[in-house]
Amino acid sequence: MNLLEALQRGPLVCDGAMGTMLQQRGMPSDVCPELWGMEHPEIISEIHREYLNAGADAILTNTFGGNYFKLKKYGVDTPASEIARQLATISLDTTTSGQFVLGDIGPTGEFMQPLGLVSEAEFFQAFADQCQGFLEAGADGIIIETMMDLNEAMVAVRAAKETGLPVIGSMSYNPDPKGFRTMMGVGPKEATEGLLEAGADVIGANCGSILMEQMVTLVEQFADAGAPYVLLEANAGIPQIVEGETVFSQTPEQMAEGVLAVLQAGARFIGGCCGTTPEHIRLIAEIVKGYNS
Ligand SMILES: [Zn+2]
Repeated sequence: MNLLEALQRGPLVCDGAMGTMLQQRGMPSDVCPELWGMEHPEIISEIHREYLNAGADAILTNTFGGNYFKLKKYGVDTPASEIARQLATISLDTTTSGQFVLGDIGPTGEFMQPLGLVSEAEFFQAFADQCQGFLEAGADGIIIETMMDLNEAMVAVRAAKETGLPVIGSMSYNPDPKGFRTMMGVGPKEATEGLLEAGADVIGANCGSILMEQMVTLVEQFADAGAPYVLLEANAGIPQIVEGETVFSQTPEQMAEGVLAVLQAGARFIGGCCGTTPEHIRLIAEIVKGYNS
C-alpha cells in the first residue's frame, strides 16, 4: 500500500521535530545538521525509532536544509543527492512494512529572480538533486515544507513530481488581517491552487505562528480550493523569544486538544513541527487512531 492509498483509508500520523531533538543529543548549533546526521547515524535512527514507537506512521528524513545553496554556506561539498540518499537510507532502515519515509525538503534560503539572484532553473536543479537521492534510496514520498514563496514551492513540487513519488506541498502561515498568510503574503487558496497545478498530491500547513486548533480554518480553505488530502504539522505553540532564544511551550496535552477539531474539519495527515517531541506525537497518535476506528 503506498502513501496515498494509506491516506485514502484513514488519517495518518507524521513525526515531530528533528532539529531540537538533535540539539538535545549534542549537535552544536553552528554545524550543518545534515552532515552531523550523516556522522551520527545512530542518533538519527534513535530519534526516528522514538517517533515510530510513539505512533508515527511516517517519518521525515533529516534533510530539511540539505540543498545545494544551504550546503554551500556550510562549506559542504558532498553533493546534495548523495546526502539525501544516505540520510533517507538511515530513515528507511528504521521503518517496517506499513511505515513511510518522506524525503524532506525545506526552502533554499534564496530568493528567485527578479527578487533575488537565483534563476528558476537553478532552483529546480537544486530540488531535483535532493529528490534524486530520495528516489535512489527508496523513499515512499517527498514533503516540501515550511515554504513561504509560492513560486519556490511550486518549482520544488515540480522537481519532486518527476520522481513519480507522492508529493506533499506545505507552506508556513501566520495570522494576518486577511486571515492567514505566509511571510511572502500567500493565502491558503492561492497556495492550494498553485501547488495542485504543480502536481502536489497533498496540501499542507506547517510551522509558523499558528496553533493546531487554528489550523481548522486552513483545512477548510485548502479543501474548498480542491486539496484531495491535507497535512498539518503545527509547532508546539506560538514561538516566543525568551532570553534571545526561540522557545515553544505548548505541552503535549495542550497541543493534543486541537487535534480532534482538525480531524473533524478533514485533516488527513497530522504531525508536529518545531518544539514537538515523541510525547506530543504519542498523544496526537492516540486521538488520530481513536478517530480511525
Ligand atoms: Zn517549525
